[in-house]
Amino acid sequence: MHKPLPTLIEQRAEARSRQIKAVVGSLERFLNRHLTRLLERVQSGEISAANLAQTIGKLYEGLRAAGLAEELRRIERLYSSELEALRDEVEALDGVLTDFDVAQARVLIESDLENAATRINEVVGSVRGTMMRSILAGTPLDFAAITASFGARAAAQVEAELNTNMSAFNQAVLNDKAEELGIETFVYSGPNDDVTRDFCRDLLEQNKLWAREDIEAMQNDTNGKLPVMETGGGWNCRHQWAPLRPKDAEELGFDVPAEFQSEAVES
Ligand SMILES: [Zn+2]
Repeated sequence: MHKPLPTLIEQRAEARSRQIKAVVGSLERFLNRHLTRLLERVQSGEISAANLAQTIGKLYEGLRAAGLAEELRRIERLYSSELEALRDEVEALDGVLTDFDVAQARVLIESDLENAATRINEVVGSVRGTMMRSILAGTPLDFAAITASFGARAAAQVEAELNTNMSAFNQAVLNDKAEELGIETFVYSGPNDDVTRDFCRDLLEQNKLWAREDIEAMQNDTNGKLPVMETGGGWNCRHQWAPLRPKDAEELGFDVPAEFQSEAVES
């Protein structure tokens, strides 16, 4: 007996946030450690003023040499546990995650990993700019201030990116499977707590079965940039649409509108 899909999605949302926090925390410590070491080398005179600009220019390469790739591999492992969770979620629909699905999912994962690397690169670029401007202006580098904001900024960006993309990744595979299995109705699933945004809370509290076309017509506050069917409430959203057949939705206590109920009897 499988756990129902909405339950699996809610549990996965909580586990995912925890795992992302751990990975992002590690990334933040790594970045701060690297900058602190750079500062120490400048202060000890190991890096001369003449070479400082060059070293800063190669900040990203320096990070790679210091183990950035290992930090990125942690993100890759996050996606592996997401795939494992998906396997259970698809089974809860009486479907199977095939090798083909997994191969397709891997393409999505690759592009998400590139996005995460790009975010880090952007923050590195902005830190590098701050440092170079300071060197050119002849003002002393405030390494403490830079270090204090660098890791935290990169971490916050990567965290938002991962929260959004991993949830959307899971949803993309589920939407695909739903289509394949001929399921055209969904319930909104995920945690309802003090950080849940109003858009999501309202949908959760309606506790209702929706048709795909109704969901596709919904608007969150991203101006269509992050469609509701793919990303729920948008940035950082932990909620997902669980494909559910009307009879299963009814059994689980969701409000099933009359238009779907005849379907429930026939199937
Ligand atoms: Zn949400």
